[in-house]
Amino acid sequence: MRRTLIAGNWKMNGSLGANALLLEGILAGATATCDLAVCVPAPYLAQVQMALSASAVRWGAQDLSEHDSGAFTGEVSAQMLKDFGCTYVIVGHSERRNYHSESDELVARKAVRALEAGLIPIVCVGETLQEREQDRTNAVVVRQLEPVIKAVGAQLVNIVIAYEPVWAIGTGKTATPAMAQQVHEVVRATLAKADTGAADKIQILYGGSMKPDNAKELLAMPDIDGGLIGGASLKAPDFLAIASAA
Ligand code: PEP
Repeated sequence: MRRTLIAGNWKMNGSLGANALLLEGILAGATATCDLAVCVPAPYLAQVQMALSASAVRWGAQDLSEHDSGAFTGEVSAQMLKDFGCTYVIVGHSERRNYHSESDELVARKAVRALEAGLIPIVCVGETLQEREQDRTNAVVVRQLEPVIKAVGAQLVNIVIAYEPVWAIGTGKTATPAMAQQVHEVVRATLAKADTGAADKIQILYGGSMKPDNAKELLAMPDIDGGLIGGASLKAPDFLAIASAA
């Protein structure tokens, strides 16, 4: 039985004051019905670690370097994230793939770095609107997954996948539960080709305008094991409402 994971992606939002209020709100309403996590901008990891250490809510980052250390100005290593108690790190978010030209192979190398440091990579995959309209959704998702599967090898069971159709991120457009379930099935079948045992255990999250009013239907799908939540994770009541829909 896979546990449901509801993970917030704060993106480049927040301030010390706003974060304190948000975290307070999450802690006040968090229940044990599902796993909860927040992936925050790197400068706020210490704040989040202090606020959440005594709770069951976990935290993580939104990206990491493919390198261990050295002359890589501006980069943050897996070990640094580990030093601040991260459980998770998002890898290959479409905003990184798009604005920073991250390739499928780079995303795979980052997933490996995360695993080597004992972090759980949340590997994002998903098609653009044009790719969906050209009926290429399955092929794109499989193409994005394959290098990751190959690179992580026997550690496959320790990753989380997030299916995030690019056209649904931050747009208010959501994949219907049936559309999302169809792609989640493709993701799980692709994982199963590499390791049947792992495929049944891996949490596959849906992301893309998941909100309190659509979460229940999406999370009811058999292969949707949680959500990666952007905008709605910035308001404690909305984030908690999604968690309680799980
Ligand atoms: C995301 O950025 O991962 C995301 C799913 O954003 P939103 O929920 O705002 O669409």
